[in-house]
Amino acid sequence: MHLTLRQLQVFKAVAEHSSFSKAAAELHLTQPAVSIQVKHLEEAIGLPLFERIGRKLFLTEAGCELRYYSLSIARQLEDAREVFAQLKSTRRGQLRVAVATTANSFASHLLAAFSRLYPEAGLTLDVTNRSSLIRQLRDNETDIVIMGKPPSDMDLVSEPFMDNPLVVIAASGHPMSGRRRIRLSDITDERFVVRETGSGTRAAMQRFMADHGLDIAIGMEMTSNEALKQAVAAGLGLGVTSRHTLEPEIRAGQLVELNVAHFPIMREWFVVHRQGKRLSPIAKAFRQFVIDEASNVWPAVAAGG
Ligand code: PGA
Repeated sequence: MHLTLRQLQVFKAVAEHSSFSKAAAELHLTQPAVSIQVKHLEEAIGLPLFERIGRKLFLTEAGCELRYYSLSIARQLEDAREVFAQLKSTRRGQLRVAVATTANSFASHLLAAFSRLYPEAGLTLDVTNRSSLIRQLRDNETDIVIMGKPPSDMDLVSEPFMDNPLVVIAASGHPMSGRRRIRLSDITDERFVVRETGSGTRAAMQRFMADHGLDIAIGMEMTSNEALKQAVAAGLGLGVTSRHTLEPEIRAGQLVELNVAHFPIMREWFVVHRQGKRLSPIAKAFRQFVIDEASNVWPAVAAGG
């Protein structure tokens, strides 16, 4: 069955007005042009669509069926038009952001500030570890990712936007907490709470320890940055994490940053997307917002602690 959207549009107008001439006037066509479109449609379907009884035009049974389908096609086209309009608009687009668990605290503030600028935009935030972020980028499941140094073997567009100093933390009553200068060799006698395999923080910590020829005792593994901080605050060991995430616990007197030689491990935060990804207007706006505004939205970080 070969029919066109134009034929359906003409049919719908004739059915609505029960008149070829009124349909022609509405569509700015001549009456013969309307008749020809309907005739072609009847030929394509193989059934008559209208019948004239007396002076009135009625739909046949096939005509009633076709009116049902043409109305639902028209509604779907209208929905599609609305969706495309939303995709084109920065105001009302949908944005999927995925961030490393360690970036969660400032990323939430960034998203909150961004959503005040674009209150009608739909935002989805996924908080996960580095290896899961890499998988999401590979499978094209997210628009924008905020993570530590992106892998060099993927086709990514990445822009550093903020420092990410990794520091050693302890529970506030820890014997080392008041010491002015702690040697690296001193912390190797301590037990460490570490992040799970797949965490960028853990990988950076392991690289640092290997570079300095150190071997640390791993006491417990935690699958998120929040869990790691709680475990350290509960006295389960020392930990290494981003200074950016510590402000609430330090203010509450639960955690302290230890003054260990060679720390912090200096890293950077990157805003990342796949090369070739057609970023929507809202995703482009968010990427630029992160680059321009991160240090204003999160001034504690810009100030270095
Ligand atoms: P993660 O993130 O430790 O929460 O995986 C930090 C990073 O991406 O480097």
